[in-house]
Amino acid sequence: MAILHNLGFPRIGENRELKFALEKYWRKEIDEPTLLAKAEQVKQQRLAQQSYLDYAQIGDFSLYDNVLDSSFLLGHIPAKVKHLENTDHSSQLESYFAVARGAQPKNDSCCAISAAEMTKWFDTNYHYIVPELNDEVRFSLNPKPLIQQVIQSRKQGYNPKPVIIGPLTYLWLSKTKDGSSQLAYLEKLLPLYTELLGEFAKCGVEWVQIDEPILATELTDDWQWAFKFAYQSLISRKTKLLLTTYFGELKENLTLACQLPIDGLHIDAVRAPDEVSRIEKMLPNDKVLSVGIIDGRNIWKSDLTAKLDILEPLQLSRGQKLWIAPSCSLIHVPISLERENKLPEEVKNWLAFAVDKLDELQLINQALLQGRECIAEALQNNALSIQTRHHSALVNDAQVAQNMEQIDNIIQAQRSPFAQRQVQQRQELNLPLLPTTTIGSFPQTGDIRAVRKQFKTGQINQTQYQEKIKAEIHACIQKQEALGLDVLVHGEAERNDMVEYFGQQLNGFTFSQLGWVQSYGSRCVKPPIIFGDVSRQSAMTVDWINYAQSLTNKPVKGMLTGPVTILNWSFVRDDQARADTCMQIALAIREEVQDLERSGVKIIQIDEAAFREGLPLHKQHWQAYLDNSVNAFKVCSNVVADNTQIHTHMCYSDFNAIIKQIAQMDADVITIETSRSDMALLGVFDSYQYPNEIGPGVYDIHSPNIPSVEAILALLEQASTKIPVENLWVNPDCGLKTRNWDEVTPALKNMLEATKIARARF
Ligand code: GLN
Ligand code: ZN
Repeated sequence: MAILHNLGFPRIGENRELKFALEKYWRKEIDEPTLLAKAEQVKQQRLAQQSYLDYAQIGDFSLYDNVLDSSFLLGHIPAKVKHLENTDHSSQLESYFAVARGAQPKNDSCCAISAAEMTKWFDTNYHYIVPELNDEVRFSLNPKPLIQQVIQSRKQGYNPKPVIIGPLTYLWLSKTKDGSSQLAYLEKLLPLYTELLGEFAKCGVEWVQIDEPILATELTDDWQWAFKFAYQSLISRKTKLLLTTYFGELKENLTLACQLPIDGLHIDAVRAPDEVSRIEKMLPNDKVLSVGIIDGRNIWKSDLTAKLDILEPLQLSRGQKLWIAPSCSLIHVPISLERENKLPEEVKNWLAFAVDKLDELQLINQALLQGRECIAEALQNNALSIQTRHHSALVNDAQVAQNMEQIDNIIQAQRSPFAQRQVQQRQELNLPLLPTTTIGSFPQTGDIRAVRKQFKTGQINQTQYQEKIKAEIHACIQKQEALGLDVLVHGEAERNDMVEYFGQQLNGFTFSQLGWVQSYGSRCVKPPIIFGDVSRQSAMTVDWINYAQSLTNKPVKGMLTGPVTILNWSFVRDDQARADTCMQIALAIREEVQDLERSGVKIIQIDEAAFREGLPLHKQHWQAYLDNSVNAFKVCSNVVADNTQIHTHMCYSDFNAIIKQIAQMDADVITIETSRSDMALLGVFDSYQYPNEIGPGVYDIHSPNIPSVEAILALLEQASTKIPVENLWVNPDCGLKTRNWDEVTPALKNMLEATKIARARF
């Protein structure tokens, strides 16, 4: 029998209780004790849901983010927030949220505190709060909250296994202001880890889980060396250390990981199956090997027989020292399938959410203990479900397979060179110098949300719904005309989300009712599930765009989400290459592009917001990902005539690693986010001599502040030093759906005013 454990469990609660409690607390509708009581309920619920594990992980719960928890554990709190505590008599919880979300001090004692930076946790859609390192940093251990939880869980009869982020990963996730190496802080940090492990030992903790996922990334020599140094310094500890790695292969860090002076190593056997036997051979026999056998990043049922094929030999060689677990923390999947009653029954039978995954683990363990016969029936059902999925008509679409055979030809097709297209498009569109536009969405007002909800719940019928949305589009077009924008959009009132909107209309997608996954803090997303071959049923956007176009003489952009973004924000089927699923989506979007063009739409925007974030952890895999992503964009876009203008939009400005691919995508116009970087990051387009047109965002849409004419003008001037003026567009950083009209109208007014001045000047 193996030891069963888990690396982490969703924190948000089965009914998103934690989310709602947090938001009430922030709105001051409940007080701190009420929030904490709710959080305690969620914690207890989670412990109960995992009660049959051999160890209960403690410390994987968090009120906002576990990296931020680590910062508080290590006393690594920004000085401005510490100051708040002293002068404002704020509680530690208030300081915690002040770092996460920013704060307005109570008694105007000092200026407002801006929220700390947030970024993606490796290649997931979870965002953590980035710790900041600077000369003022003083670490001081604050172990009490964690220790209390350990003690409490022990009293309740659990066997606690504290979970902490390892010192190297913590530093790697941190940022130094001047870009110097985070490793300079290691020596200061290590004594705190020693002290913490001592505290754990004092309360009888046997095992501590120490997460070092950076071992699944490329590490330079100094980081590799730091690993040896750090773990050597923790050697006198009295608790055992299980070092966890996940999200990929260890590659050149494999030997290092196996040789560290730790007591056990957890590996991701789902993403790095080929390394399992090498590690089994290399990891000394007296050490625990924890095999992450169940996919923690996806929602598919495991093939239990295949899993046992991997584990049984390991059990023979490793014996008592074999542990089994999900590949990584389960915070990346929804909690339970049980209450999903709208999923197609057949598809539901192929899925496993967090608790279902732990059930699988339990079954596997039973088979390891008593032989496969003792779970024969479960194995048979599992095999049946895997087979049905494999052969299901819901999954396999012969027409899609046939279309996919054409993909190489389609990719080869070329539009005329950009210079030629540009001439034709200029004739066709007749736009002024520095054309003005927006990225697509306009404010999603309470009214708009209400209309969509009424339609969803059947309170209004299809015709009534369409009328209401049309009224919104009408108003949106009128406002844009009044402002004097050159290229208009319909405003996306009918879209709840830029991926969900398309997923709901494409074959091969389904949606859970309650399958929420934490994105950051209290924010959750419900990713679409791509279970089968993807194809388009009928036109998805054409009527709305045509309606919008019928209201104005100015061009209205057709607005689509690109295949890479749809893929990166969904749960993707695991029975074919992601690249193939991506191409199937691309073919569907291509059809939509064709339909839009046929209906007379002159400009079509294909958003690829998540293009860069899909980059694999290992640089070695970048090329394949990028090549495929570029090809997918070509499949969507190379179908149009030269005088139809293709736009794309990406929500960031750091194109250093991907400028070549951006050029290969060959969109006629790309709009990007640049205002916060003062256009500095346009430099890469400049030095690459990027030939096509660019709309660098001239104001930050994340802030409610109204940008001044002068500020926008200054940015335009800057941009004009890097990009030829005749290739420049003027637009905000991103879509405006999270803003309200009181912010949007004056901001755009100033944008247009600045453009007017710039046109006269340039
Ligand atoms: N067209 C989308 C919008 O304006 C693009 C959003 C995005 O790229 N995140 O909302
Ligand atoms: Zn954007």
